[in-house]
Amino acid sequence: MGLEGQVALVTGASRGIGRAIALRLARDGADVCVNYARDVSGAGAVVQEIAKTGRRAFADQADVAVVDQARRLVAETVARLGRLDILVNNAGIEIEQPFLDVTEEAYDRVLAVNLKGAFFCAQAAAREMVRQGQGGRIVNISSVHEDLAMPGNSPYCLSKGGMRMLTRTVCLELAPHQITVNDVGPGAIRTSINEATLSDPALLKRLQARIPLGRVGCPDDVAEIVAYLVSPRASYVTGSSYFVDGGLMRQAGSL
Ligand code: NAD
Repeated sequence: MGLEGQVALVTGASRGIGRAIALRLARDGADVCVNYARDVSGAGAVVQEIAKTGRRAFADQADVAVVDQARRLVAETVARLGRLDILVNNAGIEIEQPFLDVTEEAYDRVLAVNLKGAFFCAQAAAREMVRQGQGGRIVNISSVHEDLAMPGNSPYCLSKGGMRMLTRTVCLELAPHQITVNDVGPGAIRTSINEATLSDPALLKRLQARIPLGRVGCPDDVAEIVAYLVSPRASYVTGSSYFVDGGLMRQAGSL
């Protein structure tokens, strides 16, 4: 509870971590815009689940990588739900290729969705929050790879490193408006982005052995800390990264 009367926009919320965040914020009292790129039925199912909690929700298709669509998404949220208090930049993709083979197309797409999308959604949302004059919350779903190198996934690592600095820079510009900006870096979480690893027992065993807490996380593990960061309890928290990784970051480098 604690988010009654507030409106949240969650990008990429038709499945996985975004879905868990949208449902959690609704359970905590917020009305929610469920953004999706292609999966209209997944987004519709999330909207229906939110409706059961008594909160208002609607699904809105937008490719966050396209600035006009990102701006329209924010405008649509305000038009349909009356205001905007919380933005969660969750939409993200990976295209794994060895550095020597990375194509311009793959580089551009990963950076456009993960970083440019987050940047312009944050800008459009912050403009609205400033106009409203009642503060706000922006949470960027980054990754342990904002800091931890991952060979074979360099554009993804660059994009998440960029989100880290987006958080750290923009939090200073928005602090006078009482808008907080934080990022959450998941480790290995059970979603379709990790399908290849999760469906291969040998790979899964190797991954779990590297996680100090001994398990892959679930989307609700991430939603829990987002719920805290957007709540009134976190009004003095801005500009930081919070890792939800079972200790993976601390394990890195040791044998
Ligand atoms: P996922 O693939 O299930 O979800 C990603 C969501 O983003 C999907 O709903 C997808 O449709 C949406 N999306 C992709 N491109 C989009 C676009 N252009 N516009 C709007 N939406 C778009 O994966 P997930 O694990 O739920 O990932 C959510 C976020 O968490 C991503 O930013 C990802 O990088 C991050 N993350 C995930 C893990 C993990 O282990 N699952 C770890 C670290 C970080």
